[in-house]
Amino acid sequence: RANTAMHRAKASGKDNVQFYASTRDAAVAERMELETELRRAIPAGELVVYYQPKLDVAANRFVGAEALVRWQHPRHGLLPPGRFIPIAEDSALIVDVGEYVLRQACLQARLWHEAGHEGMSVAVNVAARQLRDERIVGTVRDVLRETSLAPSCLELEITESSIMHDLEHATALLHALKGLGVSISIDDFGTGYSSLSALRNFPADKLKIDRSFVHEIETVSSAAAVALAVISFARTLGMRVNAEGVETLGQAQCLRKHGCDEIQGFLLARPVPADEVQAVFRQPGLATW
Ligand code: C2E
Ligand code: MG
Ligand code: MG
Ligand code: MG
Repeated sequence: RANTAMHRAKASGKDNVQFYASTRDAAVAERMELETELRRAIPAGELVVYYQPKLDVAANRFVGAEALVRWQHPRHGLLPPGRFIPIAEDSALIVDVGEYVLRQACLQARLWHEAGHEGMSVAVNVAARQLRDERIVGTVRDVLRETSLAPSCLELEITESSIMHDLEHATALLHALKGLGVSISIDDFGTGYSSLSALRNFPADKLKIDRSFVHEIETVSSAAAVALAVISFARTLGMRVNAEGVETLGQAQCLRKHGCDEIQGFLLARPVPADEVQAVFRQPGLATW
């Protein structure tokens, strides 16, 4: 579309203003088309949930997985969440997407338990907009009941920036969610510019160090400093720490040395379709540290 617009602008010899206007229109049109298609994709069963296993560092065992949605689009192929979650977040659609992923994830966790992987937890991402809607508490309660998943095996991941959007409201809502027995993780921690004092009384159980810091933990001293500060902040407040985006053994070693509780990343496992998760769970952790 953008290309067509560019050709048209060039062919007609119009100035850059016209060019930018038409590419912007094309982008808007593409978003609108994806939004319309996404509405249909949910009931059509085109959303697919992948799972990325997470390793407990002390035990050197897998302890659960994070649910990460993809869209098996009939024409565009398998779309990553970055292509459609922001669009869904701009409309109420994210509530439907979120509920779909939550239900699938809880069903899968029950299947893992039944297959002998007892106690495996599943983590589900919750968007800012879902957090603004009180109905999320009822939805989580209903899905737990429906799937008979132990609430202690469900983790909800909320990004730091969506909490800061309305700290007071988020705090109240997360207390209500925690009342159901689920646990709360703060995702992408370190990127949201929150004041540490604001988070002091926040009802979270775990901080997830953003992968941008993990990526540079061995090479850029400021990134390492952030990672270590997050670990010690979490320790002080009695929270656990997860590091996401671990790609090298060096990064894993560094995180372990500094007391990180849990790691996740391509070094251990990529996000995989539901039918491949249990094979990963059966694998031992890292052979060498
Ligand atoms: P996130 O929750 O921070 O998820 C981690 C992302 O990092 C995932 O990307 C994962 O595939 C990727 N990742 C994991 N390990 C590595 C690694 O070692 N290296 C690198 N380079 N990347 C790694 P993905 O699946 O594309 O998801 C992107 C984001 O989309 C997620 O970030 C989350 O914010 C959002 N998302 C995914 N599923 C859902 C969902 O069901 N609901 C909502 N609201 N958001 C979702
Ligand atoms: Mg996440
Ligand atoms: Mg993250
Ligand atoms: Mg992220």
